[in-house]
Amino acid sequence: MPDKFKRYYIRTYGCQMNEADSERIAGWYEAKGWKAAKSPEEADEVIINTCSVRQTAEDRVLGLVKNLKTPPKYYIPNTKYKVILTGCMLYHPLADLKKKLPLADEFKKISEFFGNSQLDNLAIRNSGSHAWVPIMEGCNNFCAYCVVPYARGREKPRPFEEIICEVKELVKRGYKEVTLLGQNVNSYGRDFSVSYVKSLLLLYHILIYDTQTPFALLLRVLNKIGGLRKISFLTSNPWDLSDDIIEAMKLSKVDRYLHLPVQSGDDEVLRRMNRPYTALQYIKLIKRIKKEIPDIEIGTDIIVGFPEETEEQFKHTVDLCERAGFAKAYIAMYSPRPGTAAYKFKDDVPYSEKKRRWRILEELVNKKRPANRS
Ligand code: SAH
Ligand code: SF4
Repeated sequence: MPDKFKRYYIRTYGCQMNEADSERIAGWYEAKGWKAAKSPEEADEVIINTCSVRQTAEDRVLGLVKNLKTPPKYYIPNTKYKVILTGCMLYHPLADLKKKLPLADEFKKISEFFGNSQLDNLAIRNSGSHAWVPIMEGCNNFCAYCVVPYARGREKPRPFEEIICEVKELVKRGYKEVTLLGQNVNSYGRDFSVSYVKSLLLLYHILIYDTQTPFALLLRVLNKIGGLRKISFLTSNPWDLSDDIIEAMKLSKVDRYLHLPVQSGDDEVLRRMNRPYTALQYIKLIKRIKKEIPDIEIGTDIIVGFPEETEEQFKHTVDLCERAGFAKAYIAMYSPRPGTAAYKFKDDVPYSEKKRRWRILEELVNKKRPANRS
């Protein structure tokens, strides 16, 4: 009997923000009366939510589209589905995408699913008792290697009350843990007016000397929600982690894991990456955090083989890792991204050398991490 519902299937690549976007894309389909398909061959539309942070992530998408559109006949009987590409790869000019992916049926920006703010849409989650909660879109930082500001546009905070309502609603539905998502959560609401922040302090009975930063205020208000057990957040950057955010991180429900990408331990590389801090400032910051919150664990992101990174500069990153005592590190080999500032530098560290540097850090940080963290 033919299925009376239209069905969608979503495949997600990349970061947690993409996971959260996919949950909202699912919500958008469900609101139209569609149902989830268990596999692509049961679907009318297959949506691929793409990542562009590194070339390898894009290559995987190219492979998937090819497999979906030209599978061996005996393998998938139905290939009538429409393949729709969305997410960060759509930062490439459409003509280039069509040339690279001639088999894809449609290219659709996330905003074309939802209109201007994707965050208003109801998410469909299949994640047990934990929920991703985006608190902002985009990024204003323009780190030289990074495609995110081009792919996701400028920073835009989600309204404060909307986040609180969503979390309260999640708790009512049985969720116990939330992870707040943004490219740099420290700067959430940085442009809120003083009077708006004051009105929030009054509304939520927060003492004015506890906090001035909207993100710290958000943590304080969420910490008061009965039934919520744990609040995590991703990502914080080292240059604007203010004292009142550190104070708010001591709250009982706030996770004792802080993700604080350093990217490099060399000042010259950091400068060329357009990251506004030095290795020493980073070390001082994490020492202060560890002093204030003794049971905190700190994780990081590192890029090896940034253009012109010398052996000596790489060794500064090794030194930093030795001093920092990271609980874990996501180590990436530099991948040139068209359109970014670093794209004009020569990608001159050979792959074999990037891999060697990657292995050294992987061994140093991730092989000795405590067994209880994945
Ligand atoms: N907003 C977050 C996440 C950015 S993307 C942040 O500021 O940290 C996630 C990680 O991908 C980055 O931290 C970086 O380590 C890595 N990354 C980004 N662009 C890259 C590139 N061109 N090549 C290799 N790794 C990259
Ligand atoms: Fe990319 Fe830097 Fe923005 Fe993170 S802060 S998303 S690394 S530009």
